[in-house]
Amino acid sequence: MINLQSSISAIENLLLEGSEASLTYAALECRLAIERICYERLRVAHDYISHDDLKRWQPRDIVNILIQEVDSKAASTFTLSVSTEPSPEGSSPPTVEEYEAMEFVPIGTHVGFNPSLLGKLWNALANLALHISVPESKDTPVDRYGDPEKIRAKVSETLDEIRRISAGTLLSSGFGEEVSFYCSCGAKNRRRLSLLKDGQTVSCINPQCDESYEYEEGSLSFGRRTFAIVCRKCGHQRDVPKKKVENLRTDQHVGFDCERCGDQILIQWRPMQAQRTNPK
Ligand SMILES: [Zn+2]
Ligand SMILES: [Zn+2]
Repeated sequence: MINLQSSISAIENLLLEGSEASLTYAALECRLAIERICYERLRVAHDYISHDDLKRWQPRDIVNILIQEVDSKAASTFTLSVSTEPSPEGSSPPTVEEYEAMEFVPIGTHVGFNPSLLGKLWNALANLALHISVPESKDTPVDRYGDPEKIRAKVSETLDEIRRISAGTLLSSGFGEEVSFYCSCGAKNRRRLSLLKDGQTVSCINPQCDESYEYEEGSLSFGRRTFAIVCRKCGHQRDVPKKKVENLRTDQHVGFDCERCGDQILIQWRPMQAQRTNPK
C-alpha cells in the first residue's frame, strides 16, 4: 500500500502558504498523488495483465482497463473479512445459513473511487495551474501563473478525494475463478476467467518476453501467436512470435539463423503495391 500521508501534508502546507507559486506546486503534487493512486492499483494487478496490453496511459484509462480486464471491483469500496474458525480441510462448502452463523473479523477495507472523476481532476489541475492559457487576442495578457482562486478550489477538491482514498487499508487484486498457462519463457500467466473474451490477445507478463497468445473460449485455451517462417533453402520451419514482427517499424528487420542449414533469414515490413486494371 502506498502512503499518501506525505502527499497530503505537502498539499496542506502549500495551501497554507498560499502564494501563486505554492498553489501551482500544490496542483502538481495533487496530480502526482492521483497517478500514484491509479498506478498502485496497476502494480497490484500486474500478475494478471502485461504492460504491453495496457495501450493507454492516462491514470483514468489504466484504472478502466483494470476494471475491464483484471478486476471488475478495482475501483469499488469493500471490506474483506475472514472467519474466526477455519473450515476443516476436505469439508464441503458451507451453506448460506452456515455462513451467516459464522463469526468474521475484518482484515481491511479497499477504498474505491470513480476513475472518470479522478481523470477530470487530473486534467483540470493541469489546465488551471500547469499550463499558460493561449491568448485569444492581442488584449489577453500572458500571465506567469493561472488564476490563484480557481487553482485553490480545484486543489482543495482534489485533496478531499485523496484524503478519502488514503483511508483504505487494503489493496485487492480481485476475486473469481482464474485460468493460467505457462509461457514458453517459463512465466506463469494468470487471468480472471469471467473477464476474458473469445479471440482476445494476451501478452506474456514477463516484460522481456515477446510471446503473446490468443484466447479461445470454447476450449479455455491460449494459442501461441506466431508467424510460420519457412527457410527457402532447406524448408525448415520456425515459428516467430507475432509481437516481435508487429513491433517492427518499416525500416527495421528481425533476423535469425536457420536451425537446420544455418542460413541467415531476415524479416522486414515492406509497402506492397496492388493494381487493378480498368476494364474500359
Ligand atoms: Zn513469456
Ligand atoms: Zn534452412
